[in-house]
Amino acid sequence: MTAPLFDTLAIIGPGLIGSSIARAARAQGAVRSIVASSRSPETRKIIAKLGIADKVVETSAQAVEGADLVIVCVPVGVCGTVAKEIAPHLKAGAIVSDVGSVKGVIVRDMGPHLPDNVHFVPAHPVAGTEHSGPEAGFAELFENRWCILTPPEGTDAESVDRLAAFWSLLGANVEIMTPDHHDLVLAVTSHLPHLIAYTIVGTADELETVTRSEVLKFSAGGFRDFTRIATSDPTMWRDIFLANKEAVLEMLGRFNEDVAALTKAIRRGDGEALSEHFTRTRAIRRGIIDAGQDTADADFGRSHGHED
Ligand code: NAP
Repeated sequence: MTAPLFDTLAIIGPGLIGSSIARAARAQGAVRSIVASSRSPETRKIIAKLGIADKVVETSAQAVEGADLVIVCVPVGVCGTVAKEIAPHLKAGAIVSDVGSVKGVIVRDMGPHLPDNVHFVPAHPVAGTEHSGPEAGFAELFENRWCILTPPEGTDAESVDRLAAFWSLLGANVEIMTPDHHDLVLAVTSHLPHLIAYTIVGTADELETVTRSEVLKFSAGGFRDFTRIATSDPTMWRDIFLANKEAVLEMLGRFNEDVAALTKAIRRGDGEALSEHFTRTRAIRRGIIDAGQDTADADFGRSHGHED
């Protein structure tokens, strides 16, 4: 095991992502000690019981005292408030980061509160599940997933390198881009698919001619794969759509145009247009498998009735 990269890591909001960082950092010996804080006594109790932090404290201000690396893991909409709370208590030279799924708003909301003597390096590990809370976390969550760093202009390069080394040690591949570009990329790869899943599941639920029990019974026809995404945390996703409004609206505009084109092809019986489109999309799926971002197993690797 290599020498720890940081002395003390403070995790603010050890839910799915924060607790996974704590677990992975400990498993890899990335830090000497971990302090965690969460607003609710229940989560603090769970963290203490799970033993994934060396110290559990009540407030974010207490958590950051003396910490060399602070990672804010709360929903995007409250990151600004947390930045304001921790600002007077940060150690000089500390690296302050986050894991928010939208980056432009994080730079705007957190940046102005942070003192000049700390290094602000926003980050987004593009890894997660549809589950929430500390019990859903696991140390391997970031393995072979991307972590995107979006340092604002003029950020100390050594701090960016140190945070990149931290994420690499946790198993992630690191890429650096501007916050605005991140938001555009994620609008199409994550935010739009979630919006579509939330829409389809809602639509099926509101049908009058097909009963809910029929929707559930015959869900293996495709619907069930959307329901996994549509169970994702409502608060997190509300914040994402409010925070990435422009990029999502841009992608939604393009999506609506493509739906209109396919609608026209179906109405006109234009089989050629439909097969041309479906053949193109198959190649994208193959590309994802080749990039190691999913398994090629039939039915997404689901086991059918037997555990293996
Ligand atoms: P989570 O499991 O629900 O955990 C959220 C944490 O934030 C909990 O510790 C919670 O504290 C705290 N929190 C919630 N509301 C708060 C508030 N108003 N003030 C202060 N603390 C609050 O969420 P998560 O999935 O880890 O997501 C956390 C962040 O990671 C979000 O910014 C999200 O955009 C980003 N992210 C998520 C995923 C994913 O797939 N889930 C992937 C990448 C990035 P209590 O438990 O004490 O209430």
